[in-house]
Amino acid sequence: KDVNVDSPYNLEEEKKVLEGSDNIGYFIEKKLHVWCRQSRGVWAFGTIEATSGEESFVSLANENVVKVSTSHLFPANPEILDGVDDLMHLSYLNEPSVLHNLKYRYSCDMIYSKAGAVLIAVNPFKDVEIYGKDFVTAYKQKSTDSPHVFDIAATAYNDMMNDGVSQSLIISGEYGAGKTETAKFAMKYLTAVGGGKVEIEGQLLYASCILEAFGNAKTSRNDNASRFGELVEIHFTEVGEISGVKIETCKHTRVVELDPAERSYHIFYQLCAGAPQTLRERLFLKKADEYNYLAQSDCLVINDVDDSEEFHKLMEALDIVQISNEDKDQVFKMLSAVLWLGNISFQVIDNENHVEASNDEALISAARLLGCASHDLNQALCAHTIHADKGSDKGSIVKKFTLQQASDARDALAKWIYAYLFDWLVEKINKLLDVGKQHDGRSISILDIYGFESCKKNSFEQLCINYANERLQQHFNRHLLKLEQEEYELDGIDGVKVDFVDNQECLDLFEKKSIGLLSLLDEESNSPDANDSTFVSKLKQHLSGNSCFKGDKSRAFGVRHFAGEVLYDTNGFLKKNQDTLNTELIELLSSCESQFPQTFAIKMLNQSLNPDVPKQGVGIQLKGQLFKLMHQLENTKPHFICCIKPNRKQLPSMYDDDLVLQQLRCCGVFEVVRISRYGYPARMTHQKFAERYGSLLLETNVSQDPLSISVAVLKQFNVLPEMYQIGYTKLYLRTGQIGALEDWRKQVG
Ligand code: ADP
Ligand code: MG
Repeated sequence: KDVNVDSPYNLEEEKKVLEGSDNIGYFIEKKLHVWCRQSRGVWAFGTIEATSGEESFVSLANENVVKVSTSHLFPANPEILDGVDDLMHLSYLNEPSVLHNLKYRYSCDMIYSKAGAVLIAVNPFKDVEIYGKDFVTAYKQKSTDSPHVFDIAATAYNDMMNDGVSQSLIISGEYGAGKTETAKFAMKYLTAVGGGKVEIEGQLLYASCILEAFGNAKTSRNDNASRFGELVEIHFTEVGEISGVKIETCKHTRVVELDPAERSYHIFYQLCAGAPQTLRERLFLKKADEYNYLAQSDCLVINDVDDSEEFHKLMEALDIVQISNEDKDQVFKMLSAVLWLGNISFQVIDNENHVEASNDEALISAARLLGCASHDLNQALCAHTIHADKGSDKGSIVKKFTLQQASDARDALAKWIYAYLFDWLVEKINKLLDVGKQHDGRSISILDIYGFESCKKNSFEQLCINYANERLQQHFNRHLLKLEQEEYELDGIDGVKVDFVDNQECLDLFEKKSIGLLSLLDEESNSPDANDSTFVSKLKQHLSGNSCFKGDKSRAFGVRHFAGEVLYDTNGFLKKNQDTLNTELIELLSSCESQFPQTFAIKMLNQSLNPDVPKQGVGIQLKGQLFKLMHQLENTKPHFICCIKPNRKQLPSMYDDDLVLQQLRCCGVFEVVRISRYGYPARMTHQKFAERYGSLLLETNVSQDPLSISVAVLKQFNVLPEMYQIGYTKLYLRTGQIGALEDWRKQVG
């Protein structure tokens, strides 16, 4: 297996050879194969015919001879390595070689590959027959170890069982790369091996189906994009059976504004298309195109998706997670109320541009669904009472709203109801899935959050998503690159430096107290005189010193993310960051006759009565959620899965080299392969090593300290000096060495 380490060891030399930058002369002489870069991002396979100065003549597979700059040539791997399942085993690690290898595997439907410790999953955009029961069994019985999401899940499960340590599967990738599907397959494996007696597998799958209906939406580039981040924590008993599942979410609200070719959450369209007649009547339900919130983007259907059929599946799922008929009714009432709220229109009533809601079908339906008088709803949407003297009615002023303010209040109410509805569902599902109630702390968490997004127009939503991805990337870097190198360094081992792009600066840009982007956003959101352009000037004033920030002339600003630069349009930023309802609306909700608005209002009041929880904007709340999430993950052993989208069209058998390369670079795959290659994956304290292998020593004249014993063992078994390093506290060994020692140990003992 260790093709890479049987030559004399010299790290710098090895690096050059592996990347191929210094070895072209040899390739010319031996007429070996090379990759040559042609136009942008296109690589061709060929043989060097001749070289003059900086230029080479390469004959390609199609027998054409092309002239290319020698610096654009990279050595190709021998054919015998075509399609190796771990990139670490390639002789040459340059980008075209890695790309070619993944492409080769992809063309044979081998969508999974390893990159050292990381699993790479290339989205097939078609059904691949590799997830059946036979595959579960094969990975469970360890009769195969070819790269697969089941393999990672099995490793996590076995590590948990052996070491008693909680594990996590961290799934990253751009939108549409296959994160959510991968998470589902991981759950499938874990529920299959840890199923026990409970029918948890089915319940979990149905729960995902519900969360998808309420949390996913069609975007311009993914028909089923998750708009919420999800951490599924599966708890296990001591014998490895599932004892319960807990789902945590951090979410987004996209009910009120949509861009062209986008839809709001699936559930709205499903309800409109699939609700039976009696339900329609109770909900005063219309077709989707009659609701402003849905019709605004001119996109009501998804190709090949029948919303009405999906609605029936959803109803079934709601039954399976035991949501009662009354609760279902409440859920649908709230959904319909949200839709009707969006249709409420306002008319100007005086010469100061104050408005009141038109007393029409929309106002009346929304009020009836919420269980309040339409007059009261109207008042709460159109005016705000300011109490000059807190606690008494004396001196209070009624401030009437303008059209903009009233529309904002209406939209805030719709978003708020939806957000609480989503939380209620998650809570309900958690209650059902919390099978065993008692957890002894062993769990496997699966993290699937919305992937990095860079659209034509980027707004607050993209900012939140991309910020969350920066946090995740930091976790990845820390565990796979930073901690590894720090450990080597601290233990006095040299020669394993791999450069990687640390994204701390970008995180600082967002998170710095009081002068970070999120704090500034909160400050401006709470200031009465602020608007989108004062916000931008404030950003420029405070953030120009950060190299990840780019001020723009207009009301936009750019951020250099690890995955690329994104320009954000601040239009509507402050409003989208606000997450509060005025007191009138809260009071109205708590006095509603319907059960849900009341429950939600009480929950909100309980939260805001707590003086320790200041009114925070959406951005700062997200920061808090992410910190909590990362803290939870810090206590687990991480396993990383990188999902790759091979083309933008969501089509099978299409592999866009450039697009794949960009994603591989972004998620640090090349660095990971290098560090795994030059690194020492196996490590043991001197003490432990001596205890475990000391008994194998034939030589008796060895001083009895652990280090001397360890060195004597290594000598006795002829472990080559390039195969290990001795640190202050630990021994570090390359791949395969421990396996050999263990074999000897078995033979002897
Ligand atoms: P993400 O969560 O990263 O945005 P999804 O998991 O929603 O992406 O995947 C997008 C689409 O790609 C899915 O709807 C599905 O059609 C396809 N897909 C992803 N992974 C697989 C897979 N392993 N097998 C078959 N199709 C897949
Ligand atoms: Mg997803």
